[in-house]
Amino acid sequence: MSKTTSTATDVLRTAYQKSVATYWNTERNPVNLRLGEVDGLYHHHYGVGDYDPSVLEGPQDIRDARIIEEMHRLETAQAQLLLDHLGEVSSDDRLLDAGSGRGGTSFMAHQRFGCQVDGVSISEYQVAFANDQARERGVADRVQFHFRNMLDTGFEAGSRQAIWNNESTMYVDLFELFAEHARQLEFGGRYVCITGCSNDVTGGRSKAVSRIDEHYTCNIHTRSQYFKALAANGLAPINVIDLTPATIPYWELRAKSSVATGIEEPFLTAYKEGSFHYLLIAADRV
Ligand code: SAH
Repeated sequence: MSKTTSTATDVLRTAYQKSVATYWNTERNPVNLRLGEVDGLYHHHYGVGDYDPSVLEGPQDIRDARIIEEMHRLETAQAQLLLDHLGEVSSDDRLLDAGSGRGGTSFMAHQRFGCQVDGVSISEYQVAFANDQARERGVADRVQFHFRNMLDTGFEAGSRQAIWNNESTMYVDLFELFAEHARQLEFGGRYVCITGCSNDVTGGRSKAVSRIDEHYTCNIHTRSQYFKALAANGLAPINVIDLTPATIPYWELRAKSSVATGIEEPFLTAYKEGSFHYLLIAADRV
């Protein structure tokens, strides 16, 4: 590791990156915090799998808590699925969580593989939050979060056996991102992302996809962009899974929950009209 401290001017290079950082520095949304409080794993991504319909029944007070627990279970299942695709990871390996949020997926990776994990985020607030979590969990020597830009992390070349982006690729240029990942991955190292992407086949950006971009200050890429950028950077796909049918139940449940944010309807519209997909992509560094 070459850099230990980073200043905002090193990390936030553009006005756009500053606005993304401000979004995550000030984000205190119950849809993230109340779910995280269920078991201390804080996620900023969506869920996969069917929900238990019985959570919608029952008296209002327990109904609300059960819906929240169920949404959290689906979000944790999403992160487990991502980790399932990292391949064999040993406790000596060093992994990178690119765009690590409040750290949920990083802690799960360490729990599962015993490996070292570095998370990077351009939100200083999130980095401090996740490092506090690491101390509380007693894993601060193995799981560390850094205020760094994933387009230029400062980590050594070839130092990573695996790297992932869990719903964080829509904030950056994919060619720049995958060039940096390819630099850091050892030969044969694994890259996995889970992301929403727009559908080249339906053509252009649908209104629903534009609303999602506007809501999160992000730039959703087309499906084809992912594969062009992977190929251009020596990353050869080994698995591609369309998770769209698996994520729709999560959004339907979320739309009925007390923590709905208003973005549920554009997601459901985009997925159902086919202008948007939820994809898992796994690739090897070749
Ligand atoms: N992967 C996490 C968080 C996803 S939210 C999870 O699954 O819970 C998107 C994250 O991407 C935020 O933490 C945001 O700070 C981070 N991010 C956006 N642009 C970034 C960049 N250029 N470098 C590093 N992190 C970035």
